[in-house]
Amino acid sequence: MPVYRDAGFELTDAITTENAFKKETEHSRESDIYIYSRYRNPTVVSAEDEIMKLEECAWALLTQSGMSAIDTALSIFQNGNSTRPWLFFTEIYGGTISFVESVLKTRRGLNIQYFTPDNGTYDPDKLENAISVIKPELVYIETISNPMLIVADVTNVLIIAKKYGAKVIVDNTFATPYLYKPLTDNADIVIHSVTKYFSGHGNLSAGVICGNNDKMMQSAIEYRKFVGHMLSPDDAYRLQTQIQTFELRFSRQCSNASRLAEYLGNIPIINMVWFPGLKSHPTHIIAEKLFGNKGNGAMITFDFDGKDKNEKRGRRDMFIKLVSEKIKLIPTLGDPRTILMPVEAVWGAKYPEPGMIRLSVGFEDYGELEGIISGAVDRIEAG
Ligand code: PLP
Repeated sequence: MPVYRDAGFELTDAITTENAFKKETEHSRESDIYIYSRYRNPTVVSAEDEIMKLEECAWALLTQSGMSAIDTALSIFQNGNSTRPWLFFTEIYGGTISFVESVLKTRRGLNIQYFTPDNGTYDPDKLENAISVIKPELVYIETISNPMLIVADVTNVLIIAKKYGAKVIVDNTFATPYLYKPLTDNADIVIHSVTKYFSGHGNLSAGVICGNNDKMMQSAIEYRKFVGHMLSPDDAYRLQTQIQTFELRFSRQCSNASRLAEYLGNIPIINMVWFPGLKSHPTHIIAEKLFGNKGNGAMITFDFDGKDKNEKRGRRDMFIKLVSEKIKLIPTLGDPRTILMPVEAVWGAKYPEPGMIRLSVGFEDYGELEGIISGAVDRIEAG
Protein backbone atom coordinates (compact mmCIF):
# COMPACT_ATOMS: atom_id res chain seq x y z
CA MET A 1 0.00 0.00 0.00
CA PRO A 2 1.49 3.37 -1.02
CA VAL A 3 1.37 6.36 1.31
CA TYR A 4 -1.34 8.64 -0.07
CA ARG A 5 -0.33 12.01 1.30
CA ASP A 6 -2.90 13.90 -0.78
CA ALA A 7 -5.18 16.24 1.15
CA GLY A 8 -7.81 15.99 -1.62
CA PHE A 9 -8.29 13.34 -4.33
CA GLU A 10 -8.95 13.92 -8.01
CA LEU A 11 -12.52 13.11 -9.10
CA THR A 12 -13.41 12.70 -12.79
CA ASP A 13 -16.69 14.59 -13.18
CA ALA A 14 -19.80 15.91 -11.48
CA ILE A 15 -21.56 12.52 -11.38
CA THR A 16 -18.54 10.80 -9.74
CA THR A 17 -18.29 13.69 -7.30
CA GLU A 18 -21.97 13.40 -6.35
CA ASN A 19 -21.60 9.65 -5.93
CA ALA A 20 -18.47 10.06 -3.76
CA PHE A 21 -20.22 12.56 -1.48
CA LYS A 22 -23.29 10.30 -1.21
CA LYS A 23 -21.10 7.41 -0.08
CA GLU A 24 -19.18 9.43 2.50
CA THR A 25 -20.45 7.42 5.50
CA GLU A 26 -20.57 4.02 3.78
CA HIS A 27 -18.05 1.24 4.28
CA SER A 28 -17.03 1.57 0.67
CA ARG A 29 -13.60 0.56 -0.68
CA GLU A 30 -14.03 1.65 -4.32
CA SER A 31 -11.24 3.79 -5.75
CA ASP A 32 -13.46 6.67 -6.86
CA ILE A 33 -15.05 7.43 -3.48
CA TYR A 34 -12.04 9.21 -1.98
CA ILE A 35 -12.70 12.92 -1.58
CA TYR A 36 -10.60 14.48 1.14
CA SER A 37 -8.11 12.88 3.57
CA ARG A 38 -9.90 14.07 6.70
CA TYR A 39 -12.90 11.99 5.56
CA ARG A 40 -11.23 8.85 4.19
CA ASN A 41 -7.75 7.95 2.96
CA PRO A 42 -6.70 4.74 1.12
CA THR A 43 -3.60 4.16 3.28
CA VAL A 44 -5.68 4.53 6.45
CA VAL A 45 -8.36 2.20 5.03
CA SER A 46 -5.70 -0.40 4.33
CA ALA A 47 -4.50 -0.34 7.97
CA GLU A 48 -8.14 -0.48 9.13
CA ASP A 49 -8.60 -3.69 7.13
CA GLU A 50 -5.80 -5.29 9.15
CA ILE A 51 -7.54 -4.41 12.43
CA MET A 52 -10.89 -5.71 11.15
CA LYS A 53 -9.26 -9.10 10.57
CA LEU A 54 -7.81 -9.12 14.10
CA GLU A 55 -10.99 -8.04 15.94
CA GLU A 56 -13.20 -10.04 13.53
CA CYS A 57 -15.53 -7.10 12.98
CA ALA A 58 -17.43 -5.42 10.14
CA TRP A 59 -15.67 -2.05 10.42
CA ALA A 60 -12.73 -0.31 12.10
CA LEU A 61 -11.98 3.41 12.05
CA LEU A 62 -8.52 4.69 12.86
CA THR A 63 -8.01 7.94 14.75
CA GLN A 64 -4.88 9.86 15.72
CA SER A 65 -4.85 8.66 19.35
CA GLY A 66 -6.59 6.29 21.74
CA MET A 67 -8.23 9.33 23.33
CA SER A 68 -9.75 10.46 20.02
CA ALA A 69 -11.09 6.92 19.54
CA ILE A 70 -12.66 7.18 23.02
CA ASP A 71 -14.13 10.61 22.24
CA THR A 72 -15.60 9.26 18.99
CA ALA A 73 -16.95 6.06 20.58
CA LEU A 74 -18.66 7.98 23.40
CA SER A 75 -19.88 10.94 21.35
CA ILE A 76 -21.88 8.82 18.91
CA PHE A 77 -24.14 7.81 21.82
CA GLN A 78 -24.71 11.37 22.98
CA ASN A 79 -28.14 12.60 22.09
CA GLY A 80 -28.65 16.13 23.39
CA ASN A 81 -30.62 16.35 26.61
CA SER A 82 -32.31 12.99 26.14
CA THR A 83 -29.13 11.02 26.92
CA ARG A 84 -29.74 8.66 29.90
CA PRO A 85 -26.99 8.06 32.54
CA TRP A 86 -23.70 6.51 31.45
CA LEU A 87 -22.02 3.99 33.74
CA PHE A 88 -18.21 3.83 33.85
CA PHE A 89 -16.18 1.25 35.74
CA THR A 90 -13.78 3.12 38.04
CA GLU A 91 -10.77 0.95 37.07
CA ILE A 92 -10.17 2.48 33.66
CA TYR A 93 -7.32 4.51 32.19
CA GLY A 94 -6.79 7.75 34.16
CA GLY A 95 -6.92 9.83 30.96
CA THR A 96 -10.38 8.40 30.24
CA ILE A 97 -11.57 9.29 33.76
CA SER A 98 -10.25 12.86 33.28
CA PHE A 99 -12.04 13.09 29.91
CA VAL A 100 -15.26 11.80 31.49
CA GLU A 101 -15.04 14.28 34.37
CA SER A 102 -13.82 17.38 32.49
CA VAL A 103 -15.52 16.97 29.13
CA LEU A 104 -18.53 14.68 29.47
CA LYS A 105 -19.67 15.75 32.93
CA THR A 106 -18.49 19.34 33.33
CA ARG A 107 -18.69 20.67 29.78
CA ARG A 108 -21.33 18.48 28.14
CA GLY A 109 -23.45 18.07 31.30
CA LEU A 110 -23.92 14.29 31.07
CA ASN A 111 -25.20 12.21 33.97
CA ILE A 112 -22.14 10.08 34.84
CA GLN A 113 -22.24 7.15 37.28
CA TYR A 114 -19.41 4.87 38.41
CA PHE A 115 -19.10 1.20 39.34
CA THR A 116 -16.31 0.24 41.77
CA PRO A 117 -14.69 -3.19 42.33
CA ASP A 118 -14.67 -4.97 45.72
CA ASN A 119 -11.52 -6.74 46.88
CA GLY A 120 -9.89 -6.51 43.47
CA THR A 121 -12.79 -7.95 41.47
CA TYR A 122 -16.15 -6.85 40.04
CA ASP A 123 -19.11 -8.39 41.87
CA PRO A 124 -21.70 -9.46 39.21
CA ASP A 125 -24.68 -9.23 41.62
CA LYS A 126 -23.68 -5.72 42.65
CA LEU A 127 -23.27 -4.79 38.99
CA GLU A 128 -26.69 -6.13 38.07
CA ASN A 129 -28.18 -4.24 41.00
CA ALA A 130 -26.45 -1.00 39.95
CA ILE A 131 -27.54 -1.38 36.31
CA SER A 132 -31.14 -2.19 37.27
CA VAL A 133 -31.31 0.95 39.44
CA ILE A 134 -29.32 3.40 37.25
CA LYS A 135 -30.73 2.07 33.94
CA PRO A 136 -27.73 3.40 32.01
CA GLU A 137 -27.86 3.96 28.31
CA LEU A 138 -24.20 3.05 28.10
CA VAL A 139 -21.70 0.95 30.07
CA TYR A 140 -17.94 1.54 29.63
CA ILE A 141 -15.39 -1.04 30.73
CA GLU A 142 -11.77 -2.18 30.16
CA THR A 143 -11.11 -5.91 29.71
CA ILE A 144 -7.95 -5.70 31.85
CA SER A 145 -7.60 -2.74 34.18
CA ASN A 146 -4.55 -0.65 34.98
CA PRO A 147 -2.45 -0.93 37.17
CA MET A 148 -4.14 -3.68 39.27
CA LEU A 149 -4.84 -5.83 36.18
CA ILE A 150 -8.38 -6.69 37.18
CA VAL A 151 -9.87 -8.88 34.48
CA ALA A 152 -13.54 -8.09 33.94
CA ASP A 153 -15.86 -10.95 33.10
CA VAL A 154 -16.80 -9.04 29.95
CA THR A 155 -19.01 -11.88 28.67
CA ASN A 156 -21.13 -11.62 31.81
CA VAL A 157 -21.07 -7.80 31.90
CA LEU A 158 -22.44 -7.87 28.34
CA ILE A 159 -25.23 -10.28 29.32
CA ILE A 160 -26.25 -8.10 32.29
CA ALA A 161 -26.01 -4.80 30.36
CA LYS A 162 -28.01 -6.15 27.41
CA LYS A 163 -30.71 -7.48 29.77
CA TYR A 164 -31.35 -3.85 30.81
CA GLY A 165 -31.02 -2.38 27.33
CA ALA A 166 -27.61 -0.72 27.76
CA LYS A 167 -25.02 -0.40 25.01
CA VAL A 168 -21.48 -1.47 25.92
CA ILE A 169 -18.11 0.01 24.92
CA VAL A 170 -15.06 -2.11 25.74
CA ASP A 171 -11.51 -0.71 25.84
CA ASN A 172 -9.60 -3.84 24.83
CA THR A 173 -6.13 -2.24 24.75
CA PHE A 174 -4.52 -4.43 27.44
CA ALA A 175 -6.11 -7.74 26.39
CA THR A 176 -5.98 -7.24 22.59
CA PRO A 177 -7.93 -9.56 20.26
CA TYR A 178 -5.14 -12.12 20.70
CA LEU A 179 -6.64 -12.89 24.13
CA TYR A 180 -10.27 -11.88 23.74
CA LYS A 181 -12.62 -10.39 21.12
CA PRO A 182 -15.52 -8.59 22.88
CA LEU A 183 -17.42 -7.99 19.61
CA THR A 184 -17.89 -11.74 19.17
CA ASP A 185 -19.73 -11.63 22.53
CA ASN A 186 -22.04 -8.85 21.36
CA ALA A 187 -20.19 -5.74 22.59
CA ASP A 188 -21.38 -2.69 20.68
CA ILE A 189 -18.04 -0.96 20.29
CA VAL A 190 -14.42 -1.93 20.96
CA ILE A 191 -11.72 0.71 21.17
CA HIS A 192 -7.94 0.47 21.41
CA SER A 193 -5.05 2.72 22.07
CA VAL A 194 -3.23 1.57 18.92
CA THR A 195 -0.22 3.44 20.33
CA LYS A 196 0.30 0.28 22.43
CA TYR A 197 0.33 -3.35 21.20
CA PHE A 198 -1.09 -2.95 17.68
CA SER A 199 1.70 -0.59 16.63
CA GLY A 200 3.98 -2.14 19.24
CA HIS A 201 7.17 -0.12 18.78
CA GLY A 202 6.54 2.99 20.86
CA ASN A 203 6.89 5.12 17.75
CA LEU A 204 3.43 6.30 16.84
CA SER A 205 0.24 7.53 18.41
CA ALA A 206 -3.07 6.14 17.14
CA GLY A 207 -6.45 4.80 18.20
CA VAL A 208 -9.19 2.69 16.68
CA ILE A 209 -12.92 2.24 17.11
CA CYS A 210 -14.38 -1.09 15.92
CA GLY A 211 -17.90 -2.43 15.58
CA ASN A 212 -20.48 -4.36 13.59
CA ASN A 213 -23.47 -2.02 13.59
CA ASP A 214 -23.91 0.07 10.42
CA LYS A 215 -25.63 3.05 12.06
CA MET A 216 -22.89 3.33 14.69
CA MET A 217 -20.29 3.20 11.92
CA GLN A 218 -21.98 6.02 10.01
CA SER A 219 -22.17 8.18 13.16
CA ALA A 220 -18.52 7.41 13.95
CA ILE A 221 -17.39 8.28 10.40
CA GLU A 222 -19.30 11.56 10.62
CA TYR A 223 -17.97 12.43 14.06
CA ARG A 224 -14.37 11.64 13.07
CA LYS A 225 -14.82 13.91 10.05
CA PHE A 226 -16.49 16.76 11.98
CA VAL A 227 -13.80 16.97 14.65
CA GLY A 228 -10.86 15.93 12.47
CA HIS A 229 -9.79 12.85 14.44
CA MET A 230 -8.46 11.07 11.31
CA LEU A 231 -5.08 9.29 11.47
CA SER A 232 -2.34 10.62 9.19
CA PRO A 233 -1.43 8.48 6.13
CA ASP A 234 2.22 8.27 7.23
CA ASP A 235 1.26 6.86 10.62
CA ALA A 236 -1.25 4.53 8.96
CA TYR A 237 1.49 3.25 6.66
CA ARG A 238 3.82 2.52 9.55
CA LEU A 239 1.00 0.92 11.50
CA GLN A 240 0.07 -1.24 8.53
CA THR A 241 3.64 -2.52 8.43
CA GLN A 242 4.08 -3.00 12.18
CA ILE A 243 0.71 -4.68 12.75
CA GLN A 244 1.82 -7.61 10.56
CA THR A 245 3.90 -8.84 13.49
CA PHE A 246 1.31 -8.12 16.18
CA GLU A 247 0.55 -11.74 17.12
CA LEU A 248 4.21 -12.76 17.09
CA ARG A 249 5.14 -9.86 19.35
CA PHE A 250 2.20 -10.05 21.72
CA SER A 251 2.31 -13.84 22.20
CA ARG A 252 5.98 -13.51 23.12
CA GLN A 253 5.23 -10.58 25.45
CA CYS A 254 2.53 -12.67 27.17
CA SER A 255 4.85 -15.64 27.66
CA ASN A 256 7.68 -13.43 28.93
CA ALA A 257 5.25 -11.81 31.38
CA SER A 258 3.98 -15.18 32.67
CA ARG A 259 7.53 -16.38 33.36
CA LEU A 260 8.56 -13.10 34.94
CA ALA A 261 5.47 -12.93 37.19
CA GLU A 262 6.26 -16.43 38.54
CA TYR A 263 9.86 -15.39 39.13
CA LEU A 264 8.93 -12.13 40.91
CA GLY A 265 6.44 -14.02 43.08
CA ASN A 266 9.35 -15.97 44.63
CA ILE A 267 11.50 -12.97 45.58
CA PRO A 268 11.44 -12.43 49.37
CA ILE A 269 11.67 -8.60 49.24
CA ILE A 270 8.69 -8.44 46.91
CA ASN A 271 5.55 -8.29 48.95
CA MET A 272 2.95 -8.87 46.24
CA VAL A 273 2.75 -9.47 42.50
CA TRP A 274 -0.40 -8.65 40.53
CA PHE A 275 -0.67 -10.68 37.34
CA PRO A 276 -3.91 -12.36 36.22
CA GLY A 277 -2.03 -15.57 35.38
CA LEU A 278 -1.03 -16.09 39.03
CA LYS A 279 -3.43 -18.04 41.25
CA SER A 280 -3.05 -15.30 43.87
CA HIS A 281 -4.66 -12.68 41.59
CA PRO A 282 -8.30 -11.94 42.57
CA THR A 283 -9.45 -12.36 38.95
CA HIS A 284 -7.32 -15.40 38.01
CA ILE A 285 -10.37 -17.61 37.43
CA ILE A 286 -12.05 -15.00 35.24
CA ALA A 287 -8.83 -14.66 33.22
CA GLU A 288 -8.77 -18.45 32.72
CA LYS A 289 -12.39 -18.38 31.58
CA LEU A 290 -11.95 -15.43 29.21
CA PHE A 291 -8.47 -16.06 27.80
CA GLY A 292 -8.16 -19.86 28.01
CA ASN A 293 -4.50 -20.81 27.91
CA LYS A 294 -3.40 -18.14 25.41
CA GLY A 295 -1.85 -15.87 28.02
CA ASN A 296 -2.75 -13.22 30.56
CA GLY A 297 -1.46 -10.04 28.99
CA ALA A 298 1.98 -8.50 29.29
CA MET A 299 1.58 -6.15 32.25
CA ILE A 300 2.78 -6.94 35.78
CA THR A 301 2.50 -4.80 38.89
CA PHE A 302 4.54 -5.63 41.97
CA ASP A 303 5.20 -4.10 45.36
CA PHE A 304 8.51 -3.97 47.24
CA ASP A 305 8.24 -4.99 50.87
CA GLY A 306 9.80 -2.92 53.65
CA LYS A 307 9.41 -2.20 57.35
CA ASP A 308 7.93 1.22 56.55
CA LYS A 309 7.06 3.50 53.62
CA ASN A 310 10.60 4.92 53.51
CA GLU A 311 12.23 1.52 53.11
CA LYS A 312 9.72 0.56 50.40
CA ARG A 313 10.29 3.85 48.57
CA GLY A 314 14.07 3.39 48.89
CA ARG A 315 13.91 -0.13 47.40
CA ARG A 316 11.70 1.10 44.57
CA ASP A 317 14.09 3.93 43.74
CA MET A 318 17.15 1.70 43.92
CA PHE A 319 15.50 -0.82 41.60
CA ILE A 320 14.61 1.90 39.06
CA LYS A 321 18.22 3.15 39.14
CA LEU A 322 19.84 -0.29 38.92
CA VAL A 323 17.82 -1.46 35.90
CA SER A 324 17.70 1.93 34.16
CA GLU A 325 20.18 1.15 31.44
CA LYS A 326 18.05 -1.67 30.06
CA ILE A 327 14.60 -1.15 31.57
CA LYS A 328 13.68 2.49 31.12
CA LEU A 329 11.14 4.52 33.07
CA ILE A 330 8.85 5.42 30.16
CA PRO A 331 5.22 6.31 30.84
CA THR A 332 3.60 4.15 28.16
CA LEU A 333 3.21 0.42 27.53
CA GLY A 334 3.44 -2.14 24.75
CA ASP A 335 6.98 -1.20 23.68
CA PRO A 336 9.38 -3.83 22.25
CA ARG A 337 11.54 -3.77 25.40
CA THR A 338 10.36 -3.97 28.98
CA ILE A 339 9.68 -0.54 30.48
CA LEU A 340 8.47 0.50 33.93
CA MET A 341 6.51 3.11 35.85
CA PRO A 342 6.43 3.88 39.61
CA VAL A 343 2.75 3.52 40.54
CA GLU A 344 2.52 6.00 43.43
CA ALA A 345 4.13 8.79 41.38
CA VAL A 346 1.53 8.41 38.65
CA TRP A 347 -1.68 7.41 40.43
CA GLY A 348 -1.09 9.30 43.70
CA ALA A 349 -3.78 8.70 46.32
CA LYS A 350 -5.58 6.05 44.23
CA TYR A 351 -2.69 3.57 44.72
CA PRO A 352 -0.47 5.14 47.40
CA GLU A 353 1.82 2.14 48.05
CA PRO A 354 5.36 3.55 47.58
CA GLY A 355 6.93 0.19 46.72
CA MET A 356 4.73 -0.42 43.68
CA ILE A 357 6.12 -0.65 40.16
CA ARG A 358 4.23 -1.40 36.95
CA LEU A 359 6.09 -3.30 34.25
CA SER A 360 5.15 -3.40 30.60
CA VAL A 361 6.92 -6.58 29.54
CA GLY A 362 8.60 -6.56 26.15
CA PHE A 363 9.49 -9.25 23.63
CA GLU A 364 13.22 -9.28 24.32
CA ASP A 365 15.05 -12.48 25.24
CA TYR A 366 13.57 -13.76 28.51
CA GLY A 367 16.88 -14.88 29.99
CA GLU A 368 18.34 -11.42 29.49
CA LEU A 369 15.29 -9.80 31.10
CA GLU A 370 15.32 -12.04 34.17
CA GLY A 371 19.07 -11.51 34.46
CA ILE A 372 18.68 -7.71 34.61
CA ILE A 373 15.96 -7.95 37.25
CA SER A 374 17.70 -10.61 39.36
CA GLY A 375 20.93 -8.57 39.29
CA ALA A 376 19.08 -5.53 40.67
CA VAL A 377 17.15 -7.53 43.28
CA ASP A 378 20.36 -9.21 44.52
CA ARG A 379 21.97 -5.79 45.02
CA ILE A 380 18.90 -4.47 46.88
CA GLU A 381 18.77 -7.58 49.10
CA ALA A 382 22.46 -7.18 49.87
CA GLY A 383 21.63 -3.62 51.02
N1 PLP B 1 -6.92 3.25 26.87
C1 PLP B 1 -5.97 2.72 27.64
C2 PLP B 1 -6.24 1.45 28.36
C3 PLP B 1 -4.73 3.36 27.79
O1 PLP B 1 -3.78 2.82 28.58
C4 PLP B 1 -4.49 4.58 27.10
C5 PLP B 1 -3.20 5.30 27.23
O2 PLP B 1 -2.35 4.97 27.98
C6 PLP B 1 -5.52 5.10 26.30
C7 PLP B 1 -6.71 4.41 26.20
C8 PLP B 1 -5.32 6.39 25.54
O3 PLP B 1 -4.57 6.12 24.40
P1 PLP B 1 -3.58 7.19 23.69
O4 PLP B 1 -2.52 7.52 24.65
O5 PLP B 1 -3.15 6.48 22.47
O6 PLP B 1 -4.43 8.40 23.38
